Amino acid sequence: MTFRKICCSISLLLVLAAVPVCPLSVFAGTSSAVATDVPSRGSKKSAREASLRLPKTVVPVHYDLSFEPDLKNFTFQGKEEIVLNVEAATSIVVLNAAQLAISDASIAIMSETALRPAKQATGIDKKAPGAGTTQHVSSIDLDEDREQAKLHFKSSLKTGRYVLSCRFTGKLNDDLRGFYRSAYLDSKGRSHYLCATQMEPTDARRMFPSFDEPEFKATYQISAVIEPEFTAISNAPIATKEMNTNGKAVVKFQTTPKMSSYLVALIIGELKPTRTRIAAGVPITVWTTPGKEQLGEYALSTAVEVLPVEQKYFGILYPGKKLDLIALPDFAWGAMENLGAITFREALLLVDDKTGTNFLKRTVASIEAHEMAHQWFGDLVTMRWWDDLWLNEAFATWMATKTIDQIRPEWRFLAKSVDTRNYAMSEDQLQSTRAIHADVSNPAQAIEMFDGITYEKGASILRMLECFVTEKIFQKGIHDYLCRHALGNASTEDLWKAIAAASNGAINVPDVMRPWVYQPGFPLVTLGLQKSGQELKLKQERYFEAADARGSEALWPIPLSFHVLGQSTSSRAPALNSSISNSSSNSNAHSNAASNSGEASRRQKTAGQLLAFRHDSCSIDNVQGCFFANKDGSGFYRVRYAQPDFKTISDKFDLLSAEERLAFLSDVQALAVSGKIEVENPLQLLLKIRQEKDLLVLTQIVDYYQSPYPLMNSQSMPAYQKFVCLNLKPLKQRLGWQAKAGEPDLTRDLRDAVLRNLGTYGQDKETIAEATSLYHRYLNDFRSVNPDLVPSILKIVAFNGGEKEYEEVHAAWRSAKAPEDEKRFLQTLADFKHPALVARTLDLLLSGQVRGQDAPGLLAGLLTQYESQNQAWDYTRANWSKLLKLFPPMSMREVASACSNFYRRIDEESLRTFFAVHKVPFGESAVTRALENVHINVLYQESAVARVRQWVVSQ
Ligand SMILES: [Zn+2]
Repeated sequence: MTFRKICCSISLLLVLAAVPVCPLSVFAGTSSAVATDVPSRGSKKSAREASLRLPKTVVPVHYDLSFEPDLKNFTFQGKEEIVLNVEAATSIVVLNAAQLAISDASIAIMSETALRPAKQATGIDKKAPGAGTTQHVSSIDLDEDREQAKLHFKSSLKTGRYVLSCRFTGKLNDDLRGFYRSAYLDSKGRSHYLCATQMEPTDARRMFPSFDEPEFKATYQISAVIEPEFTAISNAPIATKEMNTNGKAVVKFQTTPKMSSYLVALIIGELKPTRTRIAAGVPITVWTTPGKEQLGEYALSTAVEVLPVEQKYFGILYPGKKLDLIALPDFAWGAMENLGAITFREALLLVDDKTGTNFLKRTVASIEAHEMAHQWFGDLVTMRWWDDLWLNEAFATWMATKTIDQIRPEWRFLAKSVDTRNYAMSEDQLQSTRAIHADVSNPAQAIEMFDGITYEKGASILRMLECFVTEKIFQKGIHDYLCRHALGNASTEDLWKAIAAASNGAINVPDVMRPWVYQPGFPLVTLGLQKSGQELKLKQERYFEAADARGSEALWPIPLSFHVLGQSTSSRAPALNSSISNSSSNSNAHSNAASNSGEASRRQKTAGQLLAFRHDSCSIDNVQGCFFANKDGSGFYRVRYAQPDFKTISDKFDLLSAEERLAFLSDVQALAVSGKIEVENPLQLLLKIRQEKDLLVLTQIVDYYQSPYPLMNSQSMPAYQKFVCLNLKPLKQRLGWQAKAGEPDLTRDLRDAVLRNLGTYGQDKETIAEATSLYHRYLNDFRSVNPDLVPSILKIVAFNGGEKEYEEVHAAWRSAKAPEDEKRFLQTLADFKHPALVARTLDLLLSGQVRGQDAPGLLAGLLTQYESQNQAWDYTRANWSKLLKLFPPMSMREVASACSNFYRRIDEESLRTFFAVHKVPFGESAVTRALENVHINVLYQESAVARVRQWVVSQ
């Protein structure tokens, strides 16, 4: 699933069979002695929480499901027959069910032998021996708190195979979960409805009584009774379609492969297809509401490129018979990987090829690659339980990076994976972070697992592991893991075992990776002063961004790699004195790696040594230059250098690889906030803009120009604005407003960042005038302006605009046709700063004019921006209960997260007081993180504000 809204000690446990002195025998004993931080969720489950899991005495094998939705009254009727095995005699069958009325339940024995589910079970064989004896349910207990239905039978059910039958009714809800309704307007402004499903993590139980846990895999045969003009789409292709006596169409789908309940999909409505294209033998179609079909062509052509690349990487055939990509007007998440029927928020799938931005095209491609990777990693092989959710999501995130880098190398997704690392660290540097693997006992905790730790940190440690073991071993391990557990479930340990086996036992992957997965946070590596001919001292400790954070005993086995920055070409990277570098002994593994040119090959050359102790050292011989201690930024750790070395590395900034510069910029920014280096250090790096050539690095530096803005006062603001203009205008002169033929795609991002910062924080009059002129041209004709500039133009106009511009943007939002335009204009309303206009945008939230899925993002935008945040916070507090009622329950997390940007102590107190008594659904951790972020902002603001202002003025 994609959740972003656009958008873990031990010693050297590297086992090298070829090494005479096995490091395992030397160091294995230390692993238990190493302290591990306690994960934020305790491991002791209460009896009540444990009872939320279903007993394993009854196990489903196959579901026959039929649904008849009523899109006038927003209800549905369903019936099901579940083939199941009774593994131990019982008179109670416990299933998950929520907000369903169940009737006519009965159970019939098919066979007295509980057959293990076949890998590809077929439908119900009602002629099986012993079939026939039916027992009606004596009572049904519906426990809405536990979301369970207990079906009691008078006689005990002996072990064997049975068919459980029942009927049920439910509501097509507005919560965007389970089986829900979605509304849209046609070109004439008339309302239409469709119904759709979103099951992950635990909402299949809202559509049908089910064994709604990922480990209960079964096959599904789904039918739908629909209006004849409607289309029904599910996981499998249509088997038959017939008219019934009521004039309705009965659509019966083929049986699915074995899969988890959270992957069931059924979408019914007036849906229109693009053409169908075949990729690697798989028919692929994009579906939209009527009139938007042509907007699906980009996604279709991208999917056609992605599928063969991923199938080749995994070395396993795509597990479905077809692939539908469905754009839904209302959708709570970004996208969902239902086997064979991936659903998307329509603004994240549909792109106008002429007016769509490069950014949106990249986003759509990346989300498609993520969801399609899930068809293997998640759908074919599924985590056993939600505590291992990261297995699904981290891998899909990392695989999307690899896939898009292959089909669109000009976008440099591999280099951008450092951005993923930087983002993950921004969450993981909090004291309130959690381990990647966390206990999950109830649905709310399962939902909270969808965060930056699961996705971005997970993907980042997979990248670190891949660099450490080599790409070839990593890929073989993934292939073997998927083959071994196909159509079944697996755990984190299974993945580590498979990758270790792929190295022929040369690398003890489980011991290297466990602390990264089971322990929260990540390390800071501090290097002593680097002096030629001397010993370089290293220290690791858990890194916290809060300057007043408590200490920690945690340690990690850190894959440490050095880049030598100096004149001496013969200089070798330092080797840790206490450990055995595997850069020579593991040379076979490394030399077998693919040796493509560019970024990919540079990643393969990282040395394979582990910094595993709190303190270590290495000798420095004959080095004129300096060591950068995170080669290619592949390591999930920050590095602090002695101040003279910081200066040397800064001076040699251009000798670092692009990935290293991106990691260095992030580390320096963070370390200054936590008070571990000088406040001025990151500010000095802003001046690198004058020599920097790399587009990715330049864009990141330009983005950092806004970081001093909230710290300025009326005295320092003019100097800040002058500083922004002085440094960004030369870039503007080079780039201009118009894209040049043949320029790299990433130039557009840089142009966007430069113009946006000049027209807003820099208050450059010329840029504001140009943006305003282009804005008027754009409002007259959306296609008259370079689409990549539109977000900047709108941002600049709103930042500087008044009532007239507000009215214009508001009107453009109401009349927008393309989902991207609608979303963009709506979000622009949150960029107006004048209090009266902020008030108008706030009034929209409860007006019924903004979709439930979009309203939280609009409020979040207002809470994030410096100028509107206090007004938005007052509104949020005053209208909390109304917002809770109107916003989709899961989306309140977004509102809580947006509270991270406050800076003043008085705001911190207000937020703490409020959230102490007002709970955010599924948002306990989001609130804790937001409050800690505000606390960090307050500490930084109080300690650094004077020095930042002074530095800016001195420029
Ligand atoms: Zn996902």
